Amino acid sequence: MIEPKPFVNAKKNNPCPICGKTSWCGFNDEIAVCMRVPSDREVANGGWLHKLKEHNIVPNYNPPKPNPIVKRKPDKFLDRVYRDFISHLILSAEHKENLLNRGMTEKEIAAGLYRSTPESKYVDALAKKYNLYGVPGFFKEGGRWMCVATRGMLIPVLNELAQIVGFQIRLDNPDKNKKYVWFSSSNMGGSSPGPRIHVARPSRVKHPGLVWITEGPLKANISAERLGIIMLGVPGVNCWKHALPVLEHLNANRVVVAYDSDYHKEQVRIHARALVNEIRKKYKTGIALWHEHKGLDDALVAHAEVRVKLVS
Ligand SMILES: [Zn+2]
Repeated sequence: MIEPKPFVNAKKNNPCPICGKTSWCGFNDEIAVCMRVPSDREVANGGWLHKLKEHNIVPNYNPPKPNPIVKRKPDKFLDRVYRDFISHLILSAEHKENLLNRGMTEKEIAAGLYRSTPESKYVDALAKKYNLYGVPGFFKEGGRWMCVATRGMLIPVLNELAQIVGFQIRLDNPDKNKKYVWFSSSNMGGSSPGPRIHVARPSRVKHPGLVWITEGPLKANISAERLGIIMLGVPGVNCWKHALPVLEHLNANRVVVAYDSDYHKEQVRIHARALVNEIRKKYKTGIALWHEHKGLDDALVAHAEVRVKLVS
């Protein structure tokens, strides 16, 4: 088999040849994986394969410069480094205000270990204690270790063992399409955190065996505490497949999908449906429904009624 040419990501100056959007999709000079326009060939990341020839499209394709792939360190090590890293960081008043405005209590904010990204990108003290090679977010340049410090709020992403395995950054200056990015140094010769599923545990689990799935770690944390239910925060609606092994680890027996109510957006609806179809094969499955509010967290903070519709 011939290796396919590496994909480039759809960007502002080089949009997806299929949907014309400037994020999320990828392509080379022959095929595109579009995350928005379905075809009869679905691929593992939740997108769809399109042969550009069939669409009579010649894309603007310049192969990306190969990046050496740095293998990620094991979760246990990441947890140690990341906990040390954030123990030296603070949560700015502005970021704290933002969390309070979302309806979080002081206690929840402390438990979530949220921090503001550091002022300085240098991490000399941390690099003296740990070998940061293979820890996403860190890289070495000119003999000195530093971190990718895009301005924003660091949101810890925890695995099923409550180890910090990565961070999402809620950007202070969000892009049109992007409010969150991963704390990753893969573009700087470091390693990528990969899409990781956040496991949000309430301070008291009222319904063992029941797991809800929502979008993103922040929503998951807020909702878990209010429902007394373990919640998974998937980092993007298309990443749902990574949630399946986590459900196994957690010994789930009932699963409820609680995606944003911008369900009318075609791509959200398609991925939500695919997720529901997959989990109903193994688990008693439901869909959470609410009115008016966009996210489940907003609905719960406002004490709106949230119903669960069982999927037969
Ligand atoms: Zn596309």
